[in-house]
Amino acid sequence: MIQLVRGFKDILPPETSVWQYIENTAKTHFENFGFREMRPPVLEQAALFQRSIGEHTDIVEKEMYTFAGSRDTLLTLRPEATASVVRAYIQHKLYAADPVAKFYTIGPMFRKERPQKGRYRQFQQINAEVFGVDAPYLDAQLIFMLMTFFARLSVSGLQVHLNSLGCPQCRPAFKESLSHMLSAQSDKLCADCLRRLEKNPLRVLDCKVPGCRKVVAEAPSMLDYLCRSCQVHFDAVKSALEGMAVPYEIDPWLVRGLDYYTRTAFEIQTAELGAQNAVAGGGRYDNLVEMLGGPSQPAIGFAVGLDRLADLVMAKFPPAEPGPEVFFLPMGEAAMEMTAHWASLLADAGVRTEVDFSGRSLKALMRRADRMGAQNVLMIGDQEIADRAVVLRNMKTRDQVQVPLDALVENVKAHLEKPNVA
Ligand code: ATP
Ligand code: MG
Repeated sequence: MIQLVRGFKDILPPETSVWQYIENTAKTHFENFGFREMRPPVLEQAALFQRSIGEHTDIVEKEMYTFAGSRDTLLTLRPEATASVVRAYIQHKLYAADPVAKFYTIGPMFRKERPQKGRYRQFQQINAEVFGVDAPYLDAQLIFMLMTFFARLSVSGLQVHLNSLGCPQCRPAFKESLSHMLSAQSDKLCADCLRRLEKNPLRVLDCKVPGCRKVVAEAPSMLDYLCRSCQVHFDAVKSALEGMAVPYEIDPWLVRGLDYYTRTAFEIQTAELGAQNAVAGGGRYDNLVEMLGGPSQPAIGFAVGLDRLADLVMAKFPPAEPGPEVFFLPMGEAAMEMTAHWASLLADAGVRTEVDFSGRSLKALMRRADRMGAQNVLMIGDQEIADRAVVLRNMKTRDQVQVPLDALVENVKAHLEKPNVA
């Protein structure tokens, strides 16, 4: 038997109901904050990610699904959404009418990582991106939107980790001092970090190897190197968060896995998921739009990991699907044909409907209706057809009513809408 590819997963019902709930909540919530949905494709030119995420990041170095396209282009299954949204913003000149634009996207990302709990090779993200605003109040508002989104889902116990990564004016001095310090401790770094030290020392701060974490604990902090305008910006983000009563922790070693971030960087962490503790991450990327060939426009965004979020939601509320409102129990061929007709009309009229065409005994069908959590059963047999009336029975109260078979849809709907009756 052909099995699922390692690192990929099937999301099956009833779990899908939790995903739909999360996605619908996100849509409503983000649209209340002025975001509109964008749906970029999952496939892009490899160059888009190489240029935006950065050559010397784990994602680009070893995690991308890249293959040859037509002619000489290399194609990549997107490992993240921001680059695609930026490409679309530039390509369709979405900045022309108004550079300020807010988008959200929901969809799968692909990274060839080592699969483990909470870490898959195809995973789902909800992304939000804002273009054209550099005001620190927006940064705070975005974090507020994210935390209230989690609150709407009743997910608690989350911490906001906050840092500033500075800008091209102030970061080089920090990089230099970090490099210097790490070189002195290079005997304690893992092989990957030795390479990172050469190419991209900031990446060492993100390493999860315990030995490297120890070295990093002694590393200098970007916050001591912020230039005046980055400092003012960061202070304003913090005070706006305080004004909105959003608690946060300063995490001076938070760097995020992509190179394009500037200034505000944040991650939402939980203590409930073990090693895979990040539920969402984001930050400013004020230079990316220009770097990818667009106008100079500041931007900020975040990505929520839906797989991890779904685990948190399910830990609290096990998925529950509503049973059918009306479960049809046809007895005999004539009843089945009649049921196919009426049950279809009833479903089309907006009532959750189920039919059992198996031809088994009434007892067996009742058991199945019960197992599916049916609210009502509707029996049709030869007698009911002769009487032109069916019996609708409430599974909980055991109340029974006779419903005329003609105009069944209107009659059943009328009964369902009556409080405390069938
Ligand atoms: P991590 O530190 O856990 O590797 P990351 O910094 O690589 O996360 P981002 O690129 O910022 O993650 O993506 C945002 C969110 O997407 C993460 O916080 C996480 O919830 C989720 N995510 C990232 N990679 C995976 C994965 N391989 N499987 C499942 N979810 C993931
Ligand atoms: Mg990662």
